[in-house]
Amino acid sequence: MPPTSVDEENQQMDFAIQPEDQHAYELARMRHSCAHLMAESVLELFPDAKFAIGPAIENGFYYDIDLPRGLTPDDLVEIESRMRNHQAAAEVFERNVVSKPEALEIFGDNPYKVELIQGFADGETITTYQQGSFLDLCRGPHVDDTSKTGAFKLQSVAGAYWRGDENRPMLQRIYGTSWPTQAELDDYLHRLEEAQRRDHRRLGRELDLFSVNEEIGPGLILWHPKGAMIRFLIEQFEQHEQLARGYDLVYTPHIASEKIYKTSGHLETYRENMYSPMSIEEVDYYLKPMNCPGHIMIYKNTVRSYRDLPIRLAELGTVYRYERSGTLHGMLRVRGFTQDDSHIFCTPDQVIEELSAVIDFAQHFAKVFGYEFTAYLATRPEKSIGSEEVWDRAVDQLRQSLEQRGLSWKIDEGGGAFYGPKIDIKWVDALGREWTGPTIQVDFNLPERFDVNYIGEDGERHRAVMIHRTLLGSMERFVGGLIEHYAGAFPVWLAPVQIAIIPITDDQIAFANQVKATLEAKGLRVNVNDARDRMQAKIRDAQMQKIPYMLVIGKREVEQNAVAVRLRSGEDLGAMQVQDFVDMVEAVVASKSLEPKLGE
Ligand SMILES: [Zn+2]
Ligand SMILES: [Zn+2]
Repeated sequence: MPPTSVDEENQQMDFAIQPEDQHAYELARMRHSCAHLMAESVLELFPDAKFAIGPAIENGFYYDIDLPRGLTPDDLVEIESRMRNHQAAAEVFERNVVSKPEALEIFGDNPYKVELIQGFADGETITTYQQGSFLDLCRGPHVDDTSKTGAFKLQSVAGAYWRGDENRPMLQRIYGTSWPTQAELDDYLHRLEEAQRRDHRRLGRELDLFSVNEEIGPGLILWHPKGAMIRFLIEQFEQHEQLARGYDLVYTPHIASEKIYKTSGHLETYRENMYSPMSIEEVDYYLKPMNCPGHIMIYKNTVRSYRDLPIRLAELGTVYRYERSGTLHGMLRVRGFTQDDSHIFCTPDQVIEELSAVIDFAQHFAKVFGYEFTAYLATRPEKSIGSEEVWDRAVDQLRQSLEQRGLSWKIDEGGGAFYGPKIDIKWVDALGREWTGPTIQVDFNLPERFDVNYIGEDGERHRAVMIHRTLLGSMERFVGGLIEHYAGAFPVWLAPVQIAIIPITDDQIAFANQVKATLEAKGLRVNVNDARDRMQAKIRDAQMQKIPYMLVIGKREVEQNAVAVRLRSGEDLGAMQVQDFVDMVEAVVASKSLEPKLGE
């Protein structure tokens, strides 16, 4: 099992949630108590076990333990069963205050606890908790007794280095989850299973959508024909929408000289995210980490009048940013990605209208892709540029635009960038998980650095307002998220193959190809499965590939110029004339319906 890092957790204590959020506090207290319940049971099975740390974590708990041998799935079953006995026994958690020397004596044969105890300042309060036969160094708090540790399940065992240091002993980390009620536990386990079933890396492989190749390099996505088709359709849709909404499309190079990144400040503030430069005729060039400077140079190429504004430049701009290899994750966290990036240059009077138009655009996308969403208004962080007055006005403009669009939002206090506030919209997917969605950012910095201006009605130069916006974010992350949202079953308009034609015997292949030609002439994406498999196997194969429609063709269908239509859900729509089927699919595609069948 791969070792996991423990750098995210607090090293000194094993319980660090503060009682500000009452519900989170109670959950963490219950889960941490459940970790003690587990430890008690492990100790019975392995009297030599040495316990390190066992905190509550999101949705559960773990305990890192030094054990004489590797744990098996059977061990977890046995530990769980003992936990149930101790839970039923309602053993009381007893708290005791001890001095540092006392603590060192009690835990003297456990090097991990000794190390933790030595980390305490002299005179600091050290506490132990005991339930049943198990005594632990612990700051608590705990529930009253073991009957209050909730409905639990042990989930997995992973290797974990003591203190996350690969030069120190490798311990075994047992993960568990616990919930106030059995129903909540069942619901959580179900959601977990669903998330695994929908994992975009797994579906990406099964549906042949994309891959990451070690020889190309980690974090760099290869889009296979079917994945590329999905992306192409999304891009085409977005480009048309942008043109209809008054955007201008632009293209900018993938590399740019250091001059521009000095002016933009990226070399100063963003360098650790940029790749090493390449030297071209003694000038350093960088892979672009952002598209903004290129768009600004296009804006500045001529003198702009207030009559020209707003100017909305949009590009599917590919950028490269450094991410540590340990953080890379399928399509969601990558080193090269394409943003649907746009920069809107406008007068101060136009800001609210422009912001509302972008929010309207985002709402439209949420509807088309079938996402719910939550909006966050991110305000001034501690380290930031610009006066109080400028920030207040921009935050107020963002707020007004949200109001204009009738949206409710949450405040993300201090979550803005140093150069301006923003609206973050999170997509909420089919499992209720939040994904990074549209970002709408007001920028006080780059217009100053690049002297971005326009000539006003008064004939004077004025500072233009600059809004950065992405709707989908990165194509990689967006499509990765969509794969999980749809569990691979893309709506008909996006499905790489929309229709699988299944002739029952070789006698129907000619007619099948004729139907294929008819459908393809309508721009539909079709394949004919003329393999010598049984019909049921071909249907199963098309279902596995999540192809929305299956057209089964036997002798009778040929005679009647018909097709027997099945949906990937298994629903049987019966025989239809070819033309009726075409009409139905065209209506589904045109409406971008999420379902392969329009509502009655
Ligand atoms: Zn504890
Ligand atoms: Zn930008």
